[in-house]
Amino acid sequence: MKVLEHIEKSKGKTQFTFEILPPLKGQHIDSLFENITPLMEFKPPFIDVTYHREEYVYKEHDNGLLEKRIIRKRPGTVGICAAIQHRYKVDAIPHILCGGFTKEDTENFLIDLDFLGIDNVVALRGDAVKSETYFKPTQDGHLYAVDLVKQIKDLNQGSYLDDEVEYSAPTDFCIGVSGYPEKHMEAPSLDSDIHFLKKKIAAGADYIVTQMFFDNTKFFEFVEKCRDAGITVPIIPGLKPLATRKQLNLIPHRFHVDLPEALIKAVVKCKDNTEIRQVGIEWCIAQSKELMAANVPFLHYYSMGKSTAIEQIAAEVF
Ligand code: FAD
Repeated sequence: MKVLEHIEKSKGKTQFTFEILPPLKGQHIDSLFENITPLMEFKPPFIDVTYHREEYVYKEHDNGLLEKRIIRKRPGTVGICAAIQHRYKVDAIPHILCGGFTKEDTENFLIDLDFLGIDNVVALRGDAVKSETYFKPTQDGHLYAVDLVKQIKDLNQGSYLDDEVEYSAPTDFCIGVSGYPEKHMEAPSLDSDIHFLKKKIAAGADYIVTQMFFDNTKFFEFVEKCRDAGITVPIIPGLKPLATRKQLNLIPHRFHVDLPEALIKAVVKCKDNTEIRQVGIEWCIAQSKELMAANVPFLHYYSMGKSTAIEQIAAEVF
């Protein structure tokens, strides 16, 4: 079932959803299920599965020469989606990137999803590979998420890359895109970012999922700005409970979001990560309750593959 249909079916009730990462290569899929199963009690209508592009690593040989290798540390997005749908009978939503994909790869990826009965995708540009400063599109790939949305929309209309294919069955994907309440790190301003966000909607995206934020005011202002700009699609807030002292620096650096002063002060007072974890959970519960009162369609939690904190939060909120 599509995300928009889940919203319609819920009749205004906020639902619990979450995002997982594929396990590191070599780990058994049971390690993932161990973290998903406890969260099924809260009846998520769907689970998002992130996509992780290739990385370059350098292996040193005995003669001192370095060999450049391309590896993917977390493969398996499509397989995990299929396994989730099969095991839990809920929708799984794969993320799909511009980075690392040619248009042909994208089309084939979408055909796989369609055959597996997956009818939602989140279309993203992806970040630059770790060794590069700026995002570079793959040769014959897409530069921005908007171009990827267009390709998915084209396929939904039965338009394949090779216009001479003998059959051209249309797919029927519901398309999510990302939004950034505190603007995307490369955008010169929030207004500019929303300008391009609107183009993703105009190209055919059906809903927006936001980057994590720790101050609900930022989310409410973002929604207001989107509505003022004429964006009418559902906007799903993304939430993550803070869990360690290291994250005080890591989260702003990695995700380009601010942490509220009150949260920082509460974390600084803690004597260890057990206390910090509790502060993070309570903060996230308060955020969740306020967002729920504002009738958001879903509360979408970034689990980072660990379920215990999200479980505690969901038990208080749902
Ligand atoms: P875009 O929408 O293409 O925007 C990128 C930047 O370009 C923005 O600054 C935008 O304002 C600007 N821009 C857009 N169009 C134009 C244009 N035509 N001209 C000039 N500027 C333009 N990454 C992963 O690798 N895997 C994942 O699974 C994943 N999941 C995510 C889920 C969510 C909910 C979010 C919020 C992010 C996720 N990311 C993921 C990270 C994401 O890939 C990065 O933030 C990436 O840098 C931007 O992707 P985007 O789709 O937002 O890009």
